[in-house]
Amino acid sequence: MRENLLEIKNLYVEYKSDKGITGEKQVIHAVNGVDLTVRKGEILAIAGESGCGKSTLAKSIIRLEPAKCGQIFFNGKNVLEMNKFELKNYRKHAQMVFQNPYASLNPKMRIIDTLKEPLKINTNLSEIEMLNIIKEKSEKVGLDIECLKLYPHEFSGGQRQRIAIARALVLNPDLILADEPVSALDVSIQAQIINLLRELKNDYKLTFILITHDMSVIRYLADRVAIMYLGEIVEFGKTSQIFINPKHPYTKALLSAVPKIDGSPQERIILEGDLPSPSNLPSGCKFHTRCPNCMDICTKCSPGETQIFEDHVVKCFLYMRLNTRL
Ligand code: SF4
Repeated sequence: MRENLLEIKNLYVEYKSDKGITGEKQVIHAVNGVDLTVRKGEILAIAGESGCGKSTLAKSIIRLEPAKCGQIFFNGKNVLEMNKFELKNYRKHAQMVFQNPYASLNPKMRIIDTLKEPLKINTNLSEIEMLNIIKEKSEKVGLDIECLKLYPHEFSGGQRQRIAIARALVLNPDLILADEPVSALDVSIQAQIINLLRELKNDYKLTFILITHDMSVIRYLADRVAIMYLGEIVEFGKTSQIFINPKHPYTKALLSAVPKIDGSPQERIILEGDLPSPSNLPSGCKFHTRCPNCMDICTKCSPGETQIFEDHVVKCFLYMRLNTRL
């Protein structure tokens, strides 16, 4: 089995919302006790509806969002205890690609300068050395070298995402966190970027954390998948295992919207109601307000993890021996 690159233990992230109609700021419980391991060289997907906490989790991994408590180990070193110098060094190894490539690029900077910036800040390389790296990474992501003198607005959405990926690559990271990397792109371009990510993973032996709500992308790209609901991982396992044999009622509902590989029809599970507000979490199992299998116990107690197979765990009373946690 591959070594772990990242280990997250009992992580909680919360922040205060803007003032609502009541005029009061509310505490948003975005990440609630996440345990997760990411192995070297894998693509681990984190899936769930928008608002489930997956982007906050990704940002907290590179400390763009402060954690309330918990631990995040990168190559054995606790990220949450790193000083300024260690954090700067860590961020060379862990880079992020955002959903909206246009918003993540400085509109006033030529692409060459955008790609040079992380090298200037983080290395002592000469101009020639920097240009060689930029040329290599640009070619790798399919950018024409001639285009580097242009500005972001002169590119299409797909090309801008290639630029954002090239910028993440220039420091030779070990880990890339890709937050909905294709959801802002046209369908025709999505497949190209998905294939590019797969190629980069193999060529540079990269590890990816892929944040997405798109289960079709996960089926194609990810080695393992964590299903997130209201800041908790409710099911986790190998992608093939989760797609063939999902256990959690929420996972089943998510997967029912994805066409089967053999094209055979599947019954769509429509969940009642909306995702509850993370400022007012339900008692017991957080999914109980929408779960078609809800039992009395689910409204009062929170289910622990049950191991279904090696590398496949679920948090649901349907699979727990009731006397183990109560
Ligand atoms: Fe549904 Fe209960 Fe399982 Fe939660 S614990 S997913 S409410 S059956």
